[in-house]
Amino acid sequence: MSKLIGIDLGTTNSCVAVMEGGECVIIPNETGGRTTPSVVAFTKDGQRLVGQAARRQAVTNPERTISSIKREMGSDYRVTIDGKRYTPQEISAMILQKLKADAEAYLGEKVTDAVITVPAYFTDSQRQATKDAGTIAGLNVQRIINEPTAAALAYGVDKEQAQKVMVYDLGGGTFDVSVLEISGGVIEVLATAGNNRLGGDDFDSALTEYLAGEFQRETGLDVHRDRAAFWRLREAAEKAKIELSAMLETQVNLPFLMADRKGPRHLEATVTRAKFDQLTEPLVQATMGPVRQALADAGLRPEDISKTLLVGGSSRIPAVQAAIRQFLGKEPFKGINPDECVAMGASLQAGVLAGTVNGLLLIDVTPLSLGIETVGGVFSKIIDRNTTLPIKRSEIYSTAANFQTSVEVKVFQGERHMTAGNRLLGNFRLGGIRPALRGVPQIEVTFEIDTNGIVHVSARDMGTGRQQEITITASSNLSQAEIDRAVREARAYEEEDKRRQAEANTSHEAETLLYRAAAVMKRCSREDRKRLDEACARLKKAVKSRDGARVAAEADELRRMLDTLDPQGVQT
Ligand code: AMP
Repeated sequence: MSKLIGIDLGTTNSCVAVMEGGECVIIPNETGGRTTPSVVAFTKDGQRLVGQAARRQAVTNPERTISSIKREMGSDYRVTIDGKRYTPQEISAMILQKLKADAEAYLGEKVTDAVITVPAYFTDSQRQATKDAGTIAGLNVQRIINEPTAAALAYGVDKEQAQKVMVYDLGGGTFDVSVLEISGGVIEVLATAGNNRLGGDDFDSALTEYLAGEFQRETGLDVHRDRAAFWRLREAAEKAKIELSAMLETQVNLPFLMADRKGPRHLEATVTRAKFDQLTEPLVQATMGPVRQALADAGLRPEDISKTLLVGGSSRIPAVQAAIRQFLGKEPFKGINPDECVAMGASLQAGVLAGTVNGLLLIDVTPLSLGIETVGGVFSKIIDRNTTLPIKRSEIYSTAANFQTSVEVKVFQGERHMTAGNRLLGNFRLGGIRPALRGVPQIEVTFEIDTNGIVHVSARDMGTGRQQEITITASSNLSQAEIDRAVREARAYEEEDKRRQAEANTSHEAETLLYRAAAVMKRCSREDRKRLDEACARLKKAVKSRDGARVAAEADELRRMLDTLDPQGVQT
């Protein structure tokens, strides 16, 4: 089996980890970054960029740059570029493909299998969409696990005594808080809350607006009127914010930010942590509402929480940590890099699946009960909440009316006795039941939940053997045919990528040879110069034709000539 990687497919940034020699190792991307922006861009000349390269050009190419696609997973949102419509799964697959390629470059071997994390509140269809994105990217998604569960694994709390833990996850654009119960190796998500429009970006905006105001007060110039200047200021604000997590004061210097009749205007400002805290106080407080909500939903008080685990880059902000400390009366846990701990947890889970990590038992449980609707809208539970996954359970039902030949199976999730108070996950009809008096036909309804939390339901008429089944997915999910098509396209793109790379290598080689020929020509006989000149002209023509084989042949020819004329390869 090839190496199994753990992927934190984030809204703003993604991260990949792998187990090596019993340790979680974060896999750096091609530029050495430990996290990769979850951004995809299509350049005007048809290239596809993913990660830092896509993020860098976002300001100048906003209509063709896609960020935060995770927010749309499982919905029928589409991105249209050059007349082609992409599903959120396909865009996410492009990010996953890049992460896979980086992992392969780092490990020096093909990667085919992965564990991917999703927010605990992701519905079945959002989980299915994430799995599909993996499939499209050529990954076998061995398991989908909850992000807070992964963080708990990375922090190692699953090995400690039974306890309740809070996971506070403040990223670039989203905020999630989860309350977990850990006991006997089982990690259960008791409650989740959050705000998927609150994150580090808002802290950047607050500081940007303050600095823009100061600049306008001094110069009369409005930075909002100059897009490039505005983005320079925003980037500087993010940098200052990050520095203020470690220092009490920082400088923001932006020479030539804008210009007026008097000439160029520079921005020079000192920002103290106290000022930053004052500017961002409402944002920090805005995270406390969901914290209270999650606790209340879990039926707990602050003192019941034994630990708070910090996740997400923005949880490094000192005022955030202070607010948590004040609310829970305890210092939050900071042992692990908060932007990396989810990927690390995923890789630990991957290690368990690959058999390289022992002694770690992760069992997820169903957060809510599942069952079907029976006569009068009564909810009949088939699987109780908190049941350990995977699970398969059947119940026998019958018809409600005489000579009824079909039944409608409506699948619900929830804790209420009446289905009206629960959530309908899907429904299907089982027909062809042999006509009989009510209560006589025996219909076996089977629920199966796999380890990813994806629900399959089937109904079988035990008299005729007829069977119907569904996998619970929202209508916006992709059909198998659509997934297959997307997989083919993604593969084709991989080929195309390789071809482009090979093309770039050949033309780089040709260029190097032409430089070398120009140098050699300066010091050889007239005949040799003529021969070289002709060979160079042929190579240039071949490069223009973009015919790889022809370029290679002409390059070989020129190289042979140069090797005879200039065996030492001396460049002058
Ligand atoms: P994530 O989505 O978890 O990668 O978090 C990204 C967010 O964390 C961005 O808004 C970053 O600016 C922010 N961030 C990263 N490091 C720090 C830091 N040391 N202090 C404050 N914010 C940070």
